[in-house]
Amino acid sequence: MAYPRIIINETKFKNNVKVAIDICKKNNIEVLAVTKGFVGNRRMAELYYEAGIKYFGDSRLENFEVYKDIPGHKQMLRLPQIEEIPKLVELCDSSLNGDLTIIKKISEYSLKNNKIHQVILMVDMGDRREGVLPEDALKTAGEIIKLKGVKLIGIGCNFGCYGARVPSKEAMNKFIDIKRNIEKTYGIKLFHISGGNSLSLHMVWENTMPEEVNFLRMGFAMIFGTEDMYRKTIPGMYRDTFRCEAEIVEIDKKSSLPEGACGIDAFGHKPVFEDLGIIKRLICAIGKLDTMFDAMYPYDKDLKILGGSSDHLIINAQDSKINYQVGDVISFDLDWGSLLYLFNSKFVEKVFEK
Ligand SMILES: *Cc1c(COP(=O)(O)O)cnc(C)c1O
Repeated sequence: MAYPRIIINETKFKNNVKVAIDICKKNNIEVLAVTKGFVGNRRMAELYYEAGIKYFGDSRLENFEVYKDIPGHKQMLRLPQIEEIPKLVELCDSSLNGDLTIIKKISEYSLKNNKIHQVILMVDMGDRREGVLPEDALKTAGEIIKLKGVKLIGIGCNFGCYGARVPSKEAMNKFIDIKRNIEKTYGIKLFHISGGNSLSLHMVWENTMPEEVNFLRMGFAMIFGTEDMYRKTIPGMYRDTFRCEAEIVEIDKKSSLPEGACGIDAFGHKPVFEDLGIIKRLICAIGKLDTMFDAMYPYDKDLKILGGSSDHLIINAQDSKINYQVGDVISFDLDWGSLLYLFNSKFVEKVFEK
């Protein structure tokens, strides 16, 4: 099976990773490369490694299993579930944590197995996803320090995920105050200060990131060569490292309006349609099972994605200057949503080009 496929340009990807490493190195920040978007694709982890990555992060333990022999520090990003603690301790050097109950269970398990698992305490600086509140961080850190099977190595924060909050200088300074306060109160050194995801990268080149921050957990910026915050290409990076190709299986001229009484579509929605008259349409063999339609953009800017269903993508080709034939292949730029789906779909071929 040749199509649909996601094509990964290895040279461009490694270039992007190296550029990110260089930007961060100037500020003594280590890039913790996030692999979760590649859904356990081993080659992607190898490419990170070949580009110089020493710290890896993922949100699913199954993905770490795939590349556990690749050298480097492995960090679990999603707060561990109780039943995955044995696998966590086996596969990961550290994990992000926000709940003392779970941290205690990790400690118990680690002790029993003569291990010490490294813990980063997440602090919620406003995005309202994981982490303790700033005012509770000191006390929680004290509780973690008492546990014998875990070692509190640092604190972390995250922006732009649930609450769509952007990182600010004020929030970061408050975050660093928490670090200093923990160190002073308990007489310990926190050496893993995880200052955010790709969305925080601009603070590095704008020199607004506090110098205490020495890790960024990063996927998006290196994958798409852009910064979440400004959505501009990062100098030196490529934006087209990944693309999708799908094959045309029907070309027709049909009314843009369906005919008959309107019920619900395959996904339970009552859709609305624009009356464009009779239009030229392309049907591609790729569906919602494989990708997220509103997170992909045809290379041919005159094509417009109309929608589709589990297995079919329907495109308005009325304005295109290209005379498409059945069997031709349409190329798409990707965004986070489509990248995730494409890597996750077993019906999508993963093709690596040099
Ligand atoms: C996914 C994830 C990241 C990486 O986010 P990007 O936007 O891809 O850089 C960082 N931190 C956590 C906790 C994550 O789950």
